[in-house]
Amino acid sequence: MTDLRNLLLEKIKENGSVTVAEYMALCLCHPEFGYYTTRNPFGAKGDFITAPEISQLFGEMIGVWTLGILQQIDVSRGAALVELGPGKGTMIADILRIIRKYPVYDSLEIHLVEISPYLEKLQRENLGQYAGKISWHRSIKTLPEIPMVILANEFFDALPVSQFAGSKEVTIGAKSGEFYFSKGKGNISEHSLESVEIMESLAAKIMKNSGGILVIDYGYTEPTNKSTLQAVKNHKFHDFLSGPGAADLTAHVNFFDLETAAEKHGLKVSGAVTQKNFLENIGIRIRAEALKKNANDSQRLKIDSALARLLDADKMGELFKVMATVSPKIKEIPGF
Ligand code: SAH
Repeated sequence: MTDLRNLLLEKIKENGSVTVAEYMALCLCHPEFGYYTTRNPFGAKGDFITAPEISQLFGEMIGVWTLGILQQIDVSRGAALVELGPGKGTMIADILRIIRKYPVYDSLEIHLVEISPYLEKLQRENLGQYAGKISWHRSIKTLPEIPMVILANEFFDALPVSQFAGSKEVTIGAKSGEFYFSKGKGNISEHSLESVEIMESLAAKIMKNSGGILVIDYGYTEPTNKSTLQAVKNHKFHDFLSGPGAADLTAHVNFFDLETAAEKHGLKVSGAVTQKNFLENIGIRIRAEALKKNANDSQRLKIDSALARLLDADKMGELFKVMATVSPKIKEIPGF
């Protein structure tokens, strides 16, 4: 039987080892056996819950940011709202519910970049009412050349990283059918080539046509000197190397690398700041109070618990960071 384990063992037999990035790419996005390509990982029954799935408040705040940027763009020849890795499509639905009340909505095309045919199908179902307005892309390469706002929540953490111990790249070998990491000396660092390539290509596009990019993800702005590779299954940490394809594999996002990539093409960068800082600045508490005015007791409790999950330091508030990078033409960056 061919499955991911055998495929990886064969590759390792041929080449002696695979890099961490090769291992992640296959486990996550192999067309037949990959983690994202074969399932819906979100929600209580899935493996993890993301901010848009916790509360509509999150998507609404991202909607406010999006509007703030769109208002500073000349949309007379059209503009695009782009989401990278939309998951179930919950965030873009919450954003569109806000944006469609504004005149700029009529000039907007929606573009969703999703590598998983399985998740694309789910997004099509959940976004049925916007059918004519949305196009899907497997990669950023086919995005149009018009002004755009690009959103990425928990997208970059899903891209393969290369890990180094000192200056030597860490690899994965196999012994008696079990995978193991090569041993290295020196501080651990991680760089995601694919993330940097994507950021550079989008930055060049924004520089040319105007617009901005908002990245929200767990990550760091200073070197961590340790491995941030993690595997999650059924809401629990899982061994990174066991059961390839069965768990979500991620690494914390290296925001310094993303910032460098954006600045290289002339974009301005704000942040990364903590998610708590960003969401509070953009007005999440005011919106929560407004929602609570029309809510019953149990709904009020739900709103408070969602706020706590999104903002508290021991939950998503501090680990998650928000970075905005925009065309130099954009003067005001909401939330920073
Ligand atoms: N933004 C969503 C989902 C995050 S999970 C949320 O917050 O709930 C990561 C998403 O990125 C999934 O939709 C996954 O299928 C997609 N994805 C992963 N690698 C990708 C790639 N290389 N290109 C495009 N989409 C990718």
